[in-house]
Amino acid sequence: MGLGLYVHIPFCARRCSYCDFCTVEYNGDLVGQYHDLLKMEVEMYPFSERVETVYFGGGSPSLYPVEFLRDLLSFISYSFDTDLLEATIEANPWELNLENLKQWRDIGFNRLSIGIQSSEREILERCDRPVPRNLRDRLMASRDIFQNLNLDFILGLPGENESNVAGNLEMISEVNPDHVSYYVFDSDHETKLMRLVRNDMIDLPENEIVEGLHDIILDSLSKMGFCRYEISSWEKGNCECLHNLKYWRNEKYLGFGVSAGSHFDRKRYVNTSDLLEYRYLVNLKRRPVAEMMENSVIQEVFETLFMGLRLVEGVDLSKLKLPEELNNTLVSELRVHLSDYLSPDNARIRLNDNGMDLSRSVLEKLMEIKEEIEVAFST
Ligand code: SF4
Repeated sequence: MGLGLYVHIPFCARRCSYCDFCTVEYNGDLVGQYHDLLKMEVEMYPFSERVETVYFGGGSPSLYPVEFLRDLLSFISYSFDTDLLEATIEANPWELNLENLKQWRDIGFNRLSIGIQSSEREILERCDRPVPRNLRDRLMASRDIFQNLNLDFILGLPGENESNVAGNLEMISEVNPDHVSYYVFDSDHETKLMRLVRNDMIDLPENEIVEGLHDIILDSLSKMGFCRYEISSWEKGNCECLHNLKYWRNEKYLGFGVSAGSHFDRKRYVNTSDLLEYRYLVNLKRRPVAEMMENSVIQEVFETLFMGLRLVEGVDLSKLKLPEELNNTLVSELRVHLSDYLSPDNARIRLNDNGMDLSRSVLEKLMEIKEEIEVAFST
């Protein structure tokens, strides 16, 4: 299994109100400095494993100058042993023009992920996210140029209703991407939108409405030939996102840039989200890590379950090579406490449709089981 590399490009033209990612307003001088820092950070990781995937996310990597993108990709190839199966760039619709699209493809990106969020202009404008008028033309050009295309949507933004969702599905049908990510808006995160909701200045659709719309999406994507392989991800023609699969399978990955996360040797690292601190630490040739957590065997197993149960394929516990007693206790606890949510598959722990729909309840149950097992195996 090769490594996955994530590069965080935090720059955005403006901040969408629902966003909780680490972003900063675009500024040409800052971009140049950040680019140098990113390369210094890449140099700090002496890894010999082959790199299979790179993912430039953000922020808006599509705003990053093409010469910097090219330079970073070649710097990564120079610094690591790379045999890239997948190189993704996330893009905002505003930067989708023929010149950018061709350049991104020509410098080595073979997968384009576009943040659409909604096909309905009014919904997005309510979220401080203006949309270009000729969005469909831009999407069709993207379709022509990229063989592997993803469209991202969010369900449950203010004002969302059946007709908006129908518009999104029509857009998917027309553009015919290889991959669709359809996330349910997470109201637990602290965002400007949630502050407006709490102050009664804007409303989110009721849960029952969102659940009904979610059912329509599941049904329609399946009729369009998409296969759901993860709670929020659908693909056609074996186009699962190989990079994201590394996260969900709890494999090894490295993240560069502010707020980026890494996971290797049972350790999890999260970089600082503060650009000034990032600059300070990298200039001192120190890794810009704000948090490091070393997992016990049990914590690592449960992280594998938290992530892996998002996948339709579930988790093959035999691959974790656990001590027999721990393995048997874990399997029996999962079968007893999660019986309503699991598929009757002896080889793997997998969620059934009910479990996929109620993933939050599954996570809560998993937390309880984890605590019980930690107590039982603490001596
Ligand atoms: S949603 Fe995307 S474009 Fe909007 S602020 Fe967040 S990262 Fe930037």
